[in-house]
Amino acid sequence: MSGGDNLEFEIRPNPAPVGDAERAALLHNPGFGRIFTDHMVTIRYADGKGWYEPRVEARAPIPMDPASAVLHYAQEIFEGLKAYTLPDGGVAMFRPDANAIRFAQSAQRMAMPQLSVETFIESLHQIIKIDRSWLPTGEDSSLYLRPFAYASEVFLGVRPSMEYLYLVIASPVGPYFSGGVKPVSVWVTPDYTRAAPGGTGAAKCGGNYAAGLSAQAEAIENGCDQVVYLDALERKYIDELGGMNVFFVLDDGTLVTPPLTGTILPGITRDSIIKLATRDGRRVEERPVSLEEWHKGSVSGRIREAFACGTAAVVTPIGKVKSADDEFTIADGGSGEITMALHKQLADIQRGRAEDPFGWVHRVL
Ligand SMILES: *Cc1c(COP(=O)(O)O)cnc(C)c1O
Repeated sequence: MSGGDNLEFEIRPNPAPVGDAERAALLHNPGFGRIFTDHMVTIRYADGKGWYEPRVEARAPIPMDPASAVLHYAQEIFEGLKAYTLPDGGVAMFRPDANAIRFAQSAQRMAMPQLSVETFIESLHQIIKIDRSWLPTGEDSSLYLRPFAYASEVFLGVRPSMEYLYLVIASPVGPYFSGGVKPVSVWVTPDYTRAAPGGTGAAKCGGNYAAGLSAQAEAIENGCDQVVYLDALERKYIDELGGMNVFFVLDDGTLVTPPLTGTILPGITRDSIIKLATRDGRRVEERPVSLEEWHKGSVSGRIREAFACGTAAVVTPIGKVKSADDEFTIADGGSGEITMALHKQLADIQRGRAEDPFGWVHRVL
């Protein structure tokens, strides 16, 4: 994990980049994950050889053999982080070192080779530098970076692949939820779980998302925006939203969030909120919260607010909770005061509009 791979990127600029006028039109209303920049990073891996052929090249389809291991056994991991335009016109990423470390941990869980922290961060620098003109400047906009790696060996046997491809693509994005920050409703799925003890819940792997799509569809069928999972063992405690971690705000201002026991994804937004709130003198408890506690607390007023958090949407208030036999709102179902204050505090640090007490803002340009 530590120690550089001593890789020197070969830069092959896209011979036919998108023109200025077309790019400006695309950046006007980018949506989320729909449009992409002119380039991508690729690094190959082979057992015995290590990581090799690091390149910055034109974004293009990847030729893939139908027997590529990833297509059959889903050995794949990814990351997601953002680059922002700073008030002085520069560009920064938020805590890329934390993403690098988590990527290495995900690799370890999925029996994949680890990329060094240095190479991971350098690959992000490379794509930001070459695709700088794709950085949106709008208030809630950013350049979403998607590093990922997959098993590329042509082989149908069940064992870790001996070849991998690491890539970084970049997508200019507006707000994750169109219409800005407004409360979401969540569906407590009675049928599905996300991750069991000993499983892959703490790894950022595509398989976790594939397994959650039916549950998300169930949420939509039941009139909710997102699914929220209960723990797989007792079906009692709140785990997370499947793409976002969860916090509760008590009537005395205490923040409560489920602990990292291996079944939930260790979110960097989650960690940042814990550190910021603690520094500000707020009490933060990492402990299990049952659905029953959430319901009773919301009725009694002990739980004042609830929110989900993650890189894509930063902080999103949860207004309503629905399950097979129950439904309740948190306070008046609106956006909580502390939730919105945390959203602003974090977004201001990320975008260089506020002091950065923990050295989280990693300047690129
Ligand atoms: C990525 C992710 C999160 C949020 O993590 P951040 O580092 O805050 O973006 C939460 N849950 C799951 C399942 C995730 O994949």
